[in-house]
Amino acid sequence: MPEQVVINSIEFALNGESLSGSVAVANLSRLQDLLFSSSGTLEYTLTGKRGENDKLFLVCAVKGMLQLRCQRCLGTLAFPVDLDSELELIEDEQVFPALVNEDELTDAIKVDPNMDVLALVEDEVLLGLPMVPTHASGDCKTGDDFGQAKTDKQNAFSALAALKTKDLRKN
Ligand SMILES: [Zn+2]
Repeated sequence: MPEQVVINSIEFALNGESLSGSVAVANLSRLQDLLFSSSGTLEYTLTGKRGENDKLFLVCAVKGMLQLRCQRCLGTLAFPVDLDSELELIEDEQVFPALVNEDELTDAIKVDPNMDVLALVEDEVLLGLPMVPTHASGDCKTGDDFGQAKTDKQNAFSALAALKTKDLRKN
């Protein structure tokens, strides 16, 4: 089991604490489906901050490189991670500020006396990923093989359609 990093998020922010570390990409289980390879590590820094009106924030910075799977050619796609998100700590019953103002500059997370830092890092990385990762069209290795497979499938359908038409004619 990967090591767990747990903080009391309110105290962390109140005291302006800071925490840095690295996590192996292989240990971020929710990322695995999107990856071509789980090699590498991500570096993170979490910093607590007290803002205006005693609002509390966690600033989560993550840097590193992911090997995503291109959804067009299924090849490896190097994706640099360079995140710096500011998250407002809110109590359970509060309305998420992100729902009130839609500028989305500030995100919000619920206060948690036992907050899992690596889970937060993984959340932020997931949020920062493209919906459908693909190479830029010029770099994508969608060669003849890929196009051929598609054509064969289409031919199979046409053949099936022709077969059906034939059956109908018999009746
Ligand atoms: Zn590609």
